[in-house]
Amino acid sequence: MTTMNRQDLQQKLQGLSLTPLIALKHPIFQAKKIHVYLKRDDLNHPLIQGNKLHKLRLNLDEALRQHKDTLITFGGAYSNHIAATAAAGNAFGFKTIGYVRGDELALQKHRWSPTLKKAQSLGMKFIFLTRQAYRTKHSQAFLSEVNKIYPNGYLLPEGGTNDLAMAGFQFLIRDLEQQCPQWTHLYTAVGTGGSMSGMVRHCKHPDRQEIRGVSVLKQTDEILHNIQQWTKPHHNWTLLSNAHAGGYAKSNEALKKCQAWFETEFGVVLDSVYTAKMIWGFMQDLANRNLPEGSHVILYHSGGLQGRPTR
Ligand SMILES: *Cc1c(COP(=O)(O)O)cnc(C)c1O
Repeated sequence: MTTMNRQDLQQKLQGLSLTPLIALKHPIFQAKKIHVYLKRDDLNHPLIQGNKLHKLRLNLDEALRQHKDTLITFGGAYSNHIAATAAAGNAFGFKTIGYVRGDELALQKHRWSPTLKKAQSLGMKFIFLTRQAYRTKHSQAFLSEVNKIYPNGYLLPEGGTNDLAMAGFQFLIRDLEQQCPQWTHLYTAVGTGGSMSGMVRHCKHPDRQEIRGVSVLKQTDEILHNIQQWTKPHHNWTLLSNAHAGGYAKSNEALKKCQAWFETEFGVVLDSVYTAKMIWGFMQDLANRNLPEGSHVILYHSGGLQGRPTR
């Protein structure tokens, strides 16, 4: 059993303060006659950052409801979801197990990413899988094996997207409706598309509000399919696929320039894998006149800075 009960969890989560929504002023935005805001969810928790906190919060509650004491999940060596799960276990009294892709890492700790080192320091235990075994991780056979080994384990899929993860975005939408009820467009970075789908599901005014997801991956067929399934019957969303810069964790000069410009201009740090691409996607929309005059645009800072060296 964990040391926490559901009430404690609710109280702790409610105790996290409302993150700021900042108005971003710039002549470029003024010239296009649009209002731009940045939702600073990178500030919601030092370790369970940004969208990951929303994806986990109702899953943690469900794990407690089921009397589970261990969070089990899957990811690559640089997965923010692995980091967030480790931190959530540490903060809320769960043991954590991470199935990590790449068996060569098992005996080579010096090759661990900062993410893995951090997760281990927060108490996560790793099981390293060959790439071949990792591919079967969501199969029934594999999961029932995991279940036998850890009967008190609560399973979270790779990337952390499930129905409860999407439901967690009701809290973000509630905050945005309070902080900027006139918003018309919401930009967010897309990995699995779970966060974006959660925003679509909980959007209060689908007739005048649109969610624009910026894919950080090059291949979007599967993501697009998943988002379509997850958001049915809503259509007030778009997946932008022109800001991946070559694929996951890839970059190019234009993206780097955009990130540096934004960071200097507004004094906010972005991560190069997710939020920099979200900003770049938005700036391309702006340049291509894809935002009508009078729009109130919210850029969602989904965090992802825990792996970045502090400076
Ligand atoms: C994980 C992550 C995302 C992507 O979230 P999905 O729900 O998988 O689409 C976006 N931004 C940051 C900073 C992340 O860590």
